Amino acid sequence: MNEIQVTKVGIVSCSGEEIPNGTLCRVACRRVLDALRPGETVTICLPLFIAGGEEERSFASDYPTITVDGCEKLCAAKATEMLSGKPAKSLLVPEILKRHNLPAPTKLRQFGPVEEPAVEAVAEEIAKAVDAVLAEA
Ligand code: SF4
Repeated sequence: MNEIQVTKVGIVSCSGEEIPNGTLCRVACRRVLDALRPGETVTICLPLFIAGGEEERSFASDYPTITVDGCEKLCAAKATEMLSGKPAKSLLVPEILKRHNLPAPTKLRQFGPVEEPAVEAVAEEIAKAVDAVLAEA
């Protein structure tokens, strides 16, 4: 039997540009990829994934994915499920902020100290989800 040892998780962030929670999504995902879990994660470009990037789609078929969405439209979760397979975990930024009793950011870009608690909370939840997915694999 061929068993793939899962050592990496694909992080699929929604590409929301139009609302601050979309920006929060991307900034928090970047922090996980660059600083919190650099060795255990890779990112998948959502627009390229939807447009048919072979590498993106085959990765998402072969490895577990965690989707992170900025609003209830769940673009990343829906696209991943439709094009590749059900995500191992789907995170929703408004729910994370609610759990941490944090306000949603109001800026679309150039996040700073005011937005830091929200970035940290979302990034930490993504990192915990990575650990859980790898532990279950
Ligand atoms: S989930 Fe919401 S914020 Fe993210 S890309 Fe879709 S509509 Fe935009």
